Order: sequence, then C-alpha cells, then structure tokens
Amino acid sequence: MARIKLNISNYGKCLCPVCPVQLKSPCIAAKNENWREQRKAIGEILKEYPDHPEAYQMDMEELEKSGVGIRHHFSQPRPDEMQELYCSEAVGKSNCDDLDEEKMCQCQDCAVWQQNRLGRTYFCLSGSA
Ligand code: SF4
Ligand code: SF4
Repeated sequence: MARIKLNISNYGKCLCPVCPVQLKSPCIAAKNENWREQRKAIGEILKEYPDHPEAYQMDMEELEKSGVGIRHHFSQPRPDEMQELYCSEAVGKSNCDDLDEEKMCQCQDCAVWQQNRLGRTYFCLSGSA
C-alpha cells in the first residue's frame, strides 16, 4: 500500500474537510481555531506557487524549516489537530469519537485516493492506508 505524504499537494486534494462523516462533529468543531490558521498559512504559501513549486511537494516537516515556511510562519499541524489526510501514516485515525459513520466517506472521489489506488475508505475511523 502507498505511503501518503503529508504535503501541501495532498493536503489540497483531500476531501475530508467537506465530508459529512465529520462535518457535524462537536469534537472536530472544537479544533477549528488552529485548523483555520493552518489553512490560512497554507493558502498564503500556495500564492507563491509559481516562484516556489517545490514547496508544494515538500513534507510539512521540511516545509516548516524552509525559507517559504519561515516567511509565512508556517508550523506543521499536530496530527491530532488535523481534519484531513487521515489516510496518511502521519495522521491516521481521528481521536474524535463522535464521527457519523452512517454518512458517506468521500475518499473515492479524492485524487489522492485515485492516484494511489488506496482501495479502503473511512480512514478517519479505521486508521491510515
Ligand atoms: S476519511 Fe473518508 S470518512 Fe473520514 S473524513 Fe475523510 S472522506 Fe470522510
Ligand atoms: S483518500 Fe480520503 S483521507 Fe486520504 S486524502 Fe483523500 S479524502 Fe483525505
């Protein structure tokens, strides 16, 4: 099974933030403040994409130490604060226990899932790919 990198390229493709399985979870909502800050910083980094395309593929740990990351005060999100990329080993299963497993997982429509032929779904409930 493919190892899914924790980078901006995959982060931007992940459909978890709009997935109904976690959309109404109070536990997820409680993490929103830091999460929004992280997404804002990533949005700013993406504006520099034409000049720094390499930042798009860098592992987030590496990005944090890079010139682009430092300039945008980017700090790698803590795995337990993330609301996406549950298929990545670095994130894995959500620590929220109020996710709605009756709702439909969006992974099969996600480019990361398709490109890496992940096969399984509901990584937030069952752990990384
Ligand atoms: S892993 Fe699947 S079920 Fe879980 S939040 Fe992401 S898209 Fe939804
Ligand atoms: S396969 Fe699922 S968990 Fe992984 S990036 Fe796509 S939507 Fe997110």
